[in-house]
Amino acid sequence: MRILLMGPPGAGKGTQAERISGYCKIPHIATGDIFREAIRSGTDLGRQAKSYLDAGELVPDAVTIGIVRERVQALDCKAGFLLDGFPRTIPQAEALERLLDELSMKLDLVLNIKVAPAVLVERLTGRRICRQCGTSYHLVFNPPKQDGICDRCGGELYQRSDDTPETVSDRMRVYTNKTAPLLKFYRQRGLLRDVDGEPGIDAVWDAILGLLGSLDR
Ligand SMILES: [Zn+2]
Repeated sequence: MRILLMGPPGAGKGTQAERISGYCKIPHIATGDIFREAIRSGTDLGRQAKSYLDAGELVPDAVTIGIVRERVQALDCKAGFLLDGFPRTIPQAEALERLLDELSMKLDLVLNIKVAPAVLVERLTGRRICRQCGTSYHLVFNPPKQDGICDRCGGELYQRSDDTPETVSDRMRVYTNKTAPLLKFYRQRGLLRDVDGEPGIDAVWDAILGLLGSLDR
């Protein structure tokens, strides 16, 4: 099972990714993580990625796709993988398609978790994070027992500067503009399935399970 997971920040992608990964017994490959892994293991591509990241620059597609290539060929990807955070652009999607072709692999499914922008704004602006341990809370969905204080460690909760309504709306706009062509790309290939990300975590998971079941050979 080779799955690509898409969805805006705040769509609950992380939680669903964990569940899909556990259920299908495939590794969750998040681009940020594989950069860190490649850098830690000191591979040639890892060193190249590091030099760009250290300079505050975007890692070029050729380096990123090289790192993805190494990762999807790892032993634990024999049964498939769940790719998250890549591709982000059409050239990257085309490069991924060529790469998988070369490796005689193909994507089975592109899962797009959809949530209306207004709902995302509500979710993201309610987010509070512990300064000490990084635990995240939500004023509506997962409030701390005591206002402004972390249940776990008693640390102070704060709102990330990019979780204000203005920046969240901006991020949504950027996300929508950037991903619309990608969604079209995968829809044309018959791979795209939308999942309504607005109901609770378990309801979203049920919908995803239904989709996965319909793919089982
Ligand atoms: Zn804490």
